Amino acid sequence: MNVRFVGSFKSDFLKDKPHIVFVGRSNAGKSSLINMLVNRKVAYVSKEPGRTRFINLFELDRKLYIADAPGYGFAKVSKAEQENWKKLMENYFFECKDAISKVFLLIDSVVGPTELDKMMISWLEHLNLRYTVVLTKIDKASQREIAQTVSKLKTLTDRPIVLTSSKEGRGKRELLSFVFA
Ligand code: GDP
Repeated sequence: MNVRFVGSFKSDFLKDKPHIVFVGRSNAGKSSLINMLVNRKVAYVSKEPGRTRFINLFELDRKLYIADAPGYGFAKVSKAEQENWKKLMENYFFECKDAISKVFLLIDSVVGPTELDKMMISWLEHLNLRYTVVLTKIDKASQREIAQTVSKLKTLTDRPIVLTSSKEGRGKRELLSFVFA
């Protein structure tokens, strides 16, 4: 799999290839998951200071873009920064609506869906975007926790739910089949 970092964008996003978007709470395991999917530590660039306020685009096999959106819900973030995050996402969703082919919404299987995740679900539904819920870190959760998180999610959405662990490489094949579907 060929993957290359294209750049960090706030506007004028590249739209010449379909976007596969990754969104989720900070610390949900987004970088680890992207790295697992592409077999390389590419998502570290998204963590460089300054890049966390952008949509970072990675080109995959010259066919599509992986869009790594900044995480939300980080406790230490100011109101102004929350507003900036919201503006960036609104701008991105508005500009790229037609280019977005799939959104992966990451939910930490131990933490379960938070209020902000519920808002993200409503937003994705409202925008009519095709999304898949990705439960992360299932190696850390007990069967009971996983079942609880899944049943909570089922009250919030009818979309598919994929169980993953970047640590153990679980769910990779299933996710890739969604990416290239
Ligand atoms: P991000 O902030 O959403 O990009 O999350 P990261 O990928 O940086 O992961 C946040 C923390 O969770 C790190 O300490 C990771 O090592 C850990 N983590 C990520 N994925 C997994 C996983 O599948 N299993 C376990 N046990 N820990 C994980």
